[in-house]
Amino acid sequence: MQNFVYHNPTKVAFGKGSISKLSNLLPKAKILLLYGGGSIKKNGIYQQVCEQLEGHQWCEFSGVEANPEYTTLMQAVSLCKQENIEFILAVGGGSVIDGAKFVAAAVNYAGEPWDILAKGEPVMSAIPLGCVLTLPATGTETNTASVVTRSELGQKLSFLCDHVRPQFAVLDPEATYSLPQRQLANGVVDAFVHVMEQYLTYPVGATVQDRFAEAILTNLLEVGPKVLASQDYETRANLMWNATQALSGLIGAGVPQDWSTHMIGHELTALHNLDHAVTLAIILPSVMQYQRQHKREKLLQYAQRVWGLSLYDEEGAIDLAIEKTAQFFRDMGIKTSLSDYGIEPSVADEVAARLQKNGFTQLGEKQNISPEDARKIVAASV
Ligand code: NAP
Ligand code: FE
Repeated sequence: MQNFVYHNPTKVAFGKGSISKLSNLLPKAKILLLYGGGSIKKNGIYQQVCEQLEGHQWCEFSGVEANPEYTTLMQAVSLCKQENIEFILAVGGGSVIDGAKFVAAAVNYAGEPWDILAKGEPVMSAIPLGCVLTLPATGTETNTASVVTRSELGQKLSFLCDHVRPQFAVLDPEATYSLPQRQLANGVVDAFVHVMEQYLTYPVGATVQDRFAEAILTNLLEVGPKVLASQDYETRANLMWNATQALSGLIGAGVPQDWSTHMIGHELTALHNLDHAVTLAIILPSVMQYQRQHKREKLLQYAQRVWGLSLYDEEGAIDLAIEKTAQFFRDMGIKTSLSDYGIEPSVADEVAARLQKNGFTQLGEKQNISPEDARKIVAASV
């Protein structure tokens, strides 16, 4: 196992009715309520949150888009400065929470905030934030990551920073009842791929992390179809906790991490505005196939432990495990070929060029995926 420092101080209030805990979690401070396109007004969460904000000084900013836009977030930054905001409460899915993280960092940032994303400039401080999660998927509710899009430049970039980890996360599985099937499926697939990015690398003897990862993967395989078929509370609760743990830092501590599927996927979203999880469903099977020699030991372990396959024919087991993974995504209603979305094979060249331009020239846990390799991976996904 590799050395690591593990510290995840996000307080989680989990369960039915947990939004009622919000008033006790919020600090005595001037609060900005940040949310998205209005789903929280339709499903009643806005009202519940407003009740909790009674007695606090607060104002709001709405309209954070899916794949949050830099220009929108910069308007929220201006509002924070104008209103002397001291705490941000993000209510929504990954986009709203990621957006809140960027706003929190940008308000205190002395230079050009885009440099945090484009140049990896360090963030020395941020406004504290907390969140109410409405879409189980990204794990952003307890982690340090944020992904921001700048459409005018065709870029989707991320940053990591301890200062933007939410102080608290309210996770009420009932908040997911209003989610459309498409977003539920996206959530299952995103969480699944988060685990794969941290698990399907090369073995370092981290047996606890491996077994945790396998538990989340097998849970998602069970929960995924059920979540599409019913509004059962326990199923929603298990999906929510699976998705949080998939990217809370726990299974990623002390192990190599890949993230090439996400990096390539971000370019596809920037180019074609595909849902984040859709890009992952397209790219992951190709990465598994392309990297099968480098990932061989873990692929076999995955085939055996997650899919229960016999290893009598090792190459066949790897092929079958990859095919079953892609089939699972399709069973969740997410098609896995670029052509399913009307995207031409020439996109592979564009993705490679963008990775090169953005400086992402050594992807994967062995840093052996060049833009040319990424081109072949995308080309194999047509
Ligand atoms: P999302 O973009 O936050 O939300 C997708 C859609 O779902 C929005 O239209 C939203 O509507 C709607 N929605 C959210 N909750 C709802 C509910 N309870 N009922 C009905 N509709 C609801 O989706 P996401 O998958 O959570 O986030 C994707 C973003 O996170 C991408 O930018 C991705 O790159 C990023 N990401 C971040 C991390 C990380 O660790 N930080 C990891 C993976 C991905 P409203 O706008 O109206 O609310
Ligand atoms: Fe993701």
